[in-house]
Amino acid sequence: MSALQQTIQPGWNIVGQEHAIDLLRRTLAVQQVRHAYLFTGPDHIGKALLAHRFAQTLLCTGGPDPHVAPEAPCNACLSCRKVLHGNHPDLHIIAKPPDKQFIVIEQIRSLQSDSARKTMEGRRNVFIIQGAHEMNLQAANCLLKTLEEPEPDVVLLLTAPDPGQLLPTILSRVQQISLHLLTAAQIKAALEKTWSVDTGEAALIAALAAGRVGWAVQAVEDEDLLIERRTQLETLATLPGAGNVQRFEIAQRLSADPEKTRAILELWLLWWRDMVLVAHQCLDLTVNVDMRHMLEQQAAIVGMRECERMVHAVLDTMEALDQNVNTRAALEVLMLDVPKIKM
Ligand SMILES: [Zn+2]
Repeated sequence: MSALQQTIQPGWNIVGQEHAIDLLRRTLAVQQVRHAYLFTGPDHIGKALLAHRFAQTLLCTGGPDPHVAPEAPCNACLSCRKVLHGNHPDLHIIAKPPDKQFIVIEQIRSLQSDSARKTMEGRRNVFIIQGAHEMNLQAANCLLKTLEEPEPDVVLLLTAPDPGQLLPTILSRVQQISLHLLTAAQIKAALEKTWSVDTGEAALIAALAAGRVGWAVQAVEDEDLLIERRTQLETLATLPGAGNVQRFEIAQRLSADPEKTRAILELWLLWWRDMVLVAHQCLDLTVNVDMRHMLEQQAAIVGMRECERMVHAVLDTMEALDQNVNTRAALEVLMLDVPKIKM
């Protein structure tokens, strides 16, 4: 069951991010919707979901006046149902195609021709550019023209992890809304209430989610995610004792699926961050609550300074991959960075 299919009651149906929803509600109440918004924040915290909900509200015809967008989606009108089913003709989603490195100029040109025509059903043409930081320079410059001279009924909703990844000229023409990580308590409560997860499992998943509610929902929906996580972390824990040949083999294996590489690096980042916390005697703050024994053993062997160095090494690798460095080469460098310890 996906988060979108959960919707049955009127309302935004989003866990947390009250500050962002309040701001959008106020905008809708005074009917002063801007032409472009940018939702920023870490992966898996609901940027795309919030953009979808806002789009749904803009197109909803179930409010007190069917000609005016309500402050929250009714989730019942035909327009809402079409958005929820992904087939509203006035909602257009743009994202990096799986076989491409970037969002390319042709996609933005097609956005421009779609935005120039009349809306099919709704009062607005809404475009969601998911992962706007993945536009190449040509595409970004092309989008700028639309932002400079927007059609009156067009609303653009961009999402990106960090505003710094977009051109300043784009940033100056969008309203930025930053989303925050949730607390473990918020995630645990949502898992219990909305997804009917039992208390023990909800507590574990909420801790592992490290504030990312989207990750928590994925873990509930896909049991393999937790098994895969454990396998990946156990591999990681063997690395300090591994020789170069074994390290290169692991790099080769992990790079075979570049789509997965980022998720694995996120796991590693949290692992090494936990190791730093353990080395600083802050075991209670660790995310990997079910593997604390292993964290303690490893941190004692590896040492505080090396743990801190590895956090930076993983972050550097993530940044390199964002800039389209060869995945295998980047992982090989990272493997060699892992401290060598006689286990
Ligand atoms: Zn509606």
